[in-house]
Amino acid sequence: MEAKDVLVSLRNKSGMTQDDLADRLFVTRQAVSRWERGETLPGPDTLKQLSALYDVSINTLLGSPRKLVCQCCGMPLDDGSLSREPDGAFNEDYCKWCYADGEFVYKSLDDLVDFLVTHMPNDQWTPEQARPFYAAQLKQLKHWQE
Ligand SMILES: [Zn+2]
Repeated sequence: MEAKDVLVSLRNKSGMTQDDLADRLFVTRQAVSRWERGETLPGPDTLKQLSALYDVSINTLLGSPRKLVCQCCGMPLDDGSLSREPDGAFNEDYCKWCYADGEFVYKSLDDLVDFLVTHMPNDQWTPEQARPFYAAQLKQLKHWQE
């Protein structure tokens, strides 16, 4: 779905008119109408407001142009598994199991590898075989490159 279709569908679902939404966001009705015709996109601050208002991520608002993957554990992300900041805003880099209440759950790569080796279903590999595989995959993610 394109951003304009997502924006129309979320507004309709919320029961708001273009005027209602414009009032909530302190923009003109014409601005809302332009987004919904695909002529312009809401600016970064307005996207944040829309994200909070509809409780969907900015990636979803934009029609999911990015395939989100947790930059800590590598899990594919959707709005149900995304982490949030303490103020409730989505953090689109991490899953809710890796980042909670403003803190990272795994203090080191070894902690996370330990968790994966013991919790991921796996019949073929011994822990000794699985460990370097997970470590190599995880090292490609942003969180572990610093
Ligand atoms: Zn994660």
